[in-house]
Amino acid sequence: MYNYWRTNWKKIILGLIVAAGVGLGLYLSGLDTLPQASFSLLSSINPPTSADRVLVIAPHQDDEVLGAGDYIQRAISAGAKVEVVFATDGDKHGKKEIRHNEAVIADAKLGLKEDQLIFFDFPDGELSSQTEYDQFVIRLKDEIKAFQPTIVITTLIEDEHPDHSASGRAVKALSTTETQFTTLFFLIHSDRYPRPIGDAPEKYLLPPLKLTDEYDWEVFSATEGEQTNKRVAINSYRSQMSLSNPILRQLLQSFDRRNELFAKVIL
Ligand SMILES: [Zn+2]
Repeated sequence: MYNYWRTNWKKIILGLIVAAGVGLGLYLSGLDTLPQASFSLLSSINPPTSADRVLVIAPHQDDEVLGAGDYIQRAISAGAKVEVVFATDGDKHGKKEIRHNEAVIADAKLGLKEDQLIFFDFPDGELSSQTEYDQFVIRLKDEIKAFQPTIVITTLIEDEHPDHSASGRAVKALSTTETQFTTLFFLIHSDRYPRPIGDAPEKYLLPPLKLTDEYDWEVFSATEGEQTNKRVAINSYRSQMSLSNPILRQLLQSFDRRNELFAKVIL
């Protein structure tokens, strides 16, 4: 053994280095989000109170349920004022009316009445074009002035859907002016997120590793009742849950988890 080590030590060490490298690579490539076991290490977000005025800005009809369906229910039961703004008309596949009606039904499952839903109806997929974006910012500014929110919830700038990113940009731009509210961002479209993808309601929703440096991620744990209502609300978006589009269906199902996840800008 001693002689073997002496004559082959370079090969052995090189072999160990290669093995460690391959192992590390495999480990990292399998870790798209923080592991499930890290859930208890994340801070919990302060629950809404009766003094809060919560404005949720959903780029499309379903984002409000996916990103904040549990939080909205808690806000309503706490006595907070809640309003949902839909930025676009969701008409990409000619489904404007269907999605509008689905939103009314789905959000009723969360406890929202129709007069708490505001439809801006910008063209689906066009929110990031300069003309539409500028108009969107103006309308949003007016809405914020009228509603006076203490909390604004919308999609993250890093979301890969351009409408979602535009919504995040608009809120960020408006939150740096004279208005004062806490902004909470959620993520829907991002490469290899959420994990696991699909129906796994017993799992936690955890942040993508690639965005853990830029934001403070806080969790909002749902009660069993809230999670059940959210699942019913997701299923109410029948056009999005269609069996003919299994990828979209799986994405929606991925947000039926034990918690929601919000990113705060690190100050
Ligand atoms: Zn969307």
